[in-house]
Amino acid sequence: MALALGCLSPKKIYHEIKRYEEQFGANDSTYWLVFELMWRDYFRLVMEKHPKNFFMQNGIQNNVKWNLKHSVLDLENWKNGKTQNDFVNANMLELKYTGFMSNRGRQNVASYLIHDLKLDWRLGAAYFEEMLIDYDVSSNWCNWAYIAGVGNDPRNGRAFNLDKQVKTYDPESKYRKLWLEK
Ligand SMILES: Cc1cc2nc3c(=O)[nH]c(=O)nc-3n(C[C@H](O)[C@H](O)[C@H](O)COP(=O)(O)OP(=O)(O)OC[C@H]3O[C@@H](n4cnc5c(N)ncnc54)[C@H](O)[C@@H]3O)c2cc1C
Repeated sequence: MALALGCLSPKKIYHEIKRYEEQFGANDSTYWLVFELMWRDYFRLVMEKHPKNFFMQNGIQNNVKWNLKHSVLDLENWKNGKTQNDFVNANMLELKYTGFMSNRGRQNVASYLIHDLKLDWRLGAAYFEEMLIDYDVSSNWCNWAYIAGVGNDPRNGRAFNLDKQVKTYDPESKYRKLWLEK
C-alpha cells in the first residue's frame, strides 16, 4: 500500500533487496519481490502507451468475441460475497470489510467474474477502484485486462481453476472460515 500511495519508492525497495542479498544471499522471496516490482513498472509503461484502451472492453486486443450475461444480480452477489463459490465469497468479504485483498484473491475473484459469471471485466475493475485502499490505476486496470485476455499476452484470458487454487492455498478452510463466519 505504501507503494500505491507513493510513500515508498520502488527504487528504494529494489536497492534494499540488493543490499540484503549481498549480506545474506538471495532467496525465493527476494527474487519474487523484484519480479513483482517489474510487473508494476511494466503496467505503468503499457498504460502510458495505451492511455485509453485499458478502459475499453477489448483493451489492447482486436476481434475479441464476447459471450456476456449482463446479470445485475450476479454482480451484486459477487460484490457482497454471495456467489456459489465460498473462496470467492471470503475474498470479496475481506475486500468489503477492510479494503484489502491478497494478489491471489484478486486473481481468483477476477477470473470468477470474467470466466464463470461472464460479466464485463470492467465492472469488476470499477468495483476494485471503488474499494481498494491500495487502488492504483495501472496495476488495477492492466491486471484486470490481463485476466480478461485483452491485455498483454492474451492467450484467451487467464481462467483460474478455483478448486485447484483452494486445495493449494486454503486446504484447511482457515481463510474461508475467518471471513465467512463474521
Ligand atoms: C485484478 C487485480 C487488481 C489489482 N489492483 C491493484 C491496485 O489497484 N493497486 C496495486 O497496488 N496493486 C494491484 N494489484 C496487484 C497486487 O495484487 C497488489 O499490489 C498486491 O496484492 C500487494 O500485495 P503485496 O504488497 O503483499 O505484494 P508483493 O507480492 O510483496 O509484491 C510487492 C509489490 O509488487 C507489486 N505487485 C505485486 N503483484 C503485482 C501485480 N500482479 N501487478 C502489479 N504490481 C504487483 C506491488 O506494488 C506490491 O506491493 C492487482 C492485482 C490484480 C490481480
